[in-house]
Amino acid sequence: MSAIEMKPGIQNLGSGYGPGEAPRWADYSKCVHCGLCLNACPTYRELSLEMDSPRGRIYQMIQVDRGRLPLGESFVRHIDLCLDCRACETACPSGVEYGKLVEAARGQIEKYYQRPRLEAWWREVFFRELLPHPRRLERLGRLLRFFQRSGLERLVAAGGALGLLPGRFASLSRLAPRLEKPFFFARLGTTVPAVGERRYRVAFLAGCIANLAFARLNEATVRVLARNGCEVVIPPHQGCCGALHVHAGIRDLARQLARRNIEAFLTEDFDAVLTNAAGCGSVLKEYPQLFEEVEPEWRERAAAFSARVKDVTEFLVACGFRRDFRAVAARATYQDPCHLGHAQGIWQAPRELIRAVPGVELVELKESEVCCGSAGIYNVVHDEMAERLLENKMRRLDETGAELILTANPGCLLQLRAGVARSPNRARRVLHVVELLDEAYGHSPDLGQPRVRRAAVSSTSIARAQEEDADGRSNSGAAGAP
Ligand code: SF4
Ligand code: SF4
Repeated sequence: MSAIEMKPGIQNLGSGYGPGEAPRWADYSKCVHCGLCLNACPTYRELSLEMDSPRGRIYQMIQVDRGRLPLGESFVRHIDLCLDCRACETACPSGVEYGKLVEAARGQIEKYYQRPRLEAWWREVFFRELLPHPRRLERLGRLLRFFQRSGLERLVAAGGALGLLPGRFASLSRLAPRLEKPFFFARLGTTVPAVGERRYRVAFLAGCIANLAFARLNEATVRVLARNGCEVVIPPHQGCCGALHVHAGIRDLARQLARRNIEAFLTEDFDAVLTNAAGCGSVLKEYPQLFEEVEPEWRERAAAFSARVKDVTEFLVACGFRRDFRAVAARATYQDPCHLGHAQGIWQAPRELIRAVPGVELVELKESEVCCGSAGIYNVVHDEMAERLLENKMRRLDETGAELILTANPGCLLQLRAGVARSPNRARRVLHVVELLDEAYGHSPDLGQPRVRRAAVSSTSIARAQEEDADGRSNSGAAGAP
């Protein structure tokens, strides 16, 4: 029997991984199987199964490489259940870069394993037909907003229809954020001037779904940056960063999206490229990894781009943020997003910002470094495990007695808000650290109407150009360029 379960039409190559990026000996051989990562791993903590631990998963990757385990259903199940939270990297004394390994393993699964038809279909629609296309996202956003505001959503919920949906779709409806207009897409291609003396000229990555679901958070981020002497450029041809694709093993499309952003952000020598999403930031900083084995001609540009990327909390602390805050009286706690802490090593910057706000009493959250179960779209596709992790997190949050829950990643915001919404204490607020700063600065300055940088660029033409880029029909050579 072949070790590789092949997709129809793919040449059977015998045992081991297929051609293309795969977990490499140079990376997995660093693992000495000591097991010190086990108790850091959320899935191992829940299931106590070696196969669902970092060490067990690495062992399975090695077995596939040696042709002793098929790249089949069992391997896929254990690799899929990993959150890619990278807590094991923080715990590992041998410096195993587990994220690289699991993402490469998922790349192999994506190429050589035939998923069940329904799953393959939704993955195709979500990752390839929706996320890379701003205009489609915007249209979907309008539809969802109508659904939420027209009363239809309440009707469906009251009728019990949500309970009839399979678990993962019921989760989706529970987690869906309130969509508020105007969507942030309208801001693409605009520049927001610094308040007072300009100290920096920075570029802001607005994300993909965040343009719909976190438009207010994006606005708050830009306001806070402007308040701190930044002229904030929001490049028009930017798009989805590809983080969800990297985590899902869809590396070809992740590279395409990376090339688009590299082109969009390297038009000028910005002091920094900033994001408020930890998951996006970690992948943006790791763009060069996408070009290690494929399209090496992009490696240098990817490295130049990644060197400029900073999380907004990291940047504000490094640049010496303004401290002319109003008091915000609250007992607060902070949940570390996995991709800020474990992946980027940023633990102190958000806490320093929070502590600087007068009136805020920061209470440390026990197990703050353990994943809340959000993990990109994990809470939709693995809703049972995500639920268990969220329940644990809510117990820990209750212990703090905090009425203000802070984090620094949109995905975590959604997960924690869903937890608070069904808890007895629904009055608790869940905010991004930057939203707290914005509030403490008094929500100023007013961003006013979007000021389009180039007269010929409208938001519609921007969206069209992005869509063409993502389709590979390059209007500027971005997506199709070498
Ligand atoms: S990944 Fe690191 S901590 Fe875990 S078993 Fe291997 S060497 Fe030990
Ligand atoms: S990335 Fe997270 S879930 Fe996956 S093996 Fe490591 S600690 Fe466990």
